[in-house]
Amino acid sequence: GSTIGILGGGQLGRMMATSAAQLGYRCVSYAPEGDNVSGAVSEDFITADWDDASALAAFADRCDVVTWEFENVPVTTARAIQQAKIFPDPLALETAQDRLNEKRFVEGLGGRPAAYAKVDTSQDLEAAVDRLGAPGILKTRRDGYDGKGQWRIGSLRDAEGLRMPEAACIYEAFVEFEAEFSVILVRSREGEIRFWDSARNVHEGGILSASYYPAGEAIAAQVGEARELARKVADALKYVGVLTLEFFATRDGPIFNEMAPRVHNSGHWTIEGAATSQFENHIRAVAGLPLGDTRTTAAAVEMRNILGADIDSAHAKLGDARVHLHDYGKAEASEGRKMGHMTLVTLDTRG
Ligand code: ATP
Ligand code: MG
Ligand code: MG
Repeated sequence: GSTIGILGGGQLGRMMATSAAQLGYRCVSYAPEGDNVSGAVSEDFITADWDDASALAAFADRCDVVTWEFENVPVTTARAIQQAKIFPDPLALETAQDRLNEKRFVEGLGGRPAAYAKVDTSQDLEAAVDRLGAPGILKTRRDGYDGKGQWRIGSLRDAEGLRMPEAACIYEAFVEFEAEFSVILVRSREGEIRFWDSARNVHEGGILSASYYPAGEAIAAQVGEARELARKVADALKYVGVLTLEFFATRDGPIFNEMAPRVHNSGHWTIEGAATSQFENHIRAVAGLPLGDTRTTAAAVEMRNILGADIDSAHAKLGDARVHLHDYGKAEASEGRKMGHMTLVTLDTRG
């Protein structure tokens, strides 16, 4: 069998490796020192810094194909791997790692993000709030996830009082959305694209808390337009693997929030709720296999993230036979940390 290399050591890599093992692949994970949880299902785990050229070369040598589960893998690290061996193309990382770059790219393809402005100084911020209005959100351009590196700005006064972060930022006008959803697609090496149904995503404190399928009318009416954009993004990046675009459903149609060049938390429900999960299809795509059917098999699905110490009592949820529990096996349950998730599957209207 061949070997698939995974850059990153988190739960997304763990679930990818589980699917890869089912298909007969061995996985080798590579990540810097940390609480890495994909090692438990990978054959091997290499702990080394992203810029450790010799460790990276030794890793790449062992792999037939390399992919990533972490969107902040340095572009130089991804590019150090022979181009024919790494999927998706690292261009996707480069495009998505900088929010300003990402928004400009998506606008170039006809997408509509929230009104935004580049912000490097407190004067820039005040000018942005003045021009775009408040409320809004100041976001670091790089390295943010789970709402980290974001500051809610309620008024010009807030902007004046804010201690500016060291990093380059953007200011985004707050979107009065009806609901949030994501478009998750898989694109094969041949350019075939398949979409999963879009669930309704609910965030709490900037962190995804739950996804619900069916998503409801407001979202269903906007998925078509959102998919069109996602298809253009995937084609423009010659993308291979699973790609996610997050949207706000608004009265004016879908507003693009951000993209993730990887499998996504809002697609975890596909493990039990769809014919082929996002993880299996990601592996199929990067390994050059035919794609599996993405259709939803459940009548209704509810995915809930389990954060922090809530994982300690999560096993009791299995008392409900409709529940599937995923415990990522993380050693430290700090507050707000994604420790696992549960998916409640309803197979038909009788429950
Ligand atoms: P992720 O973990 O999804 O990568 P992130 O840290 O990159 O998160 P965003 O997706 O930018 O964060 O924002 C997190 C959440 O905050 C959004 O899903 C949405 O609920 C809210 N949010 C962000 N930007 C806006 C906005 N301009 N208007 C309204 N709500 C917003
Ligand atoms: Mg993000
Ligand atoms: Mg997001």
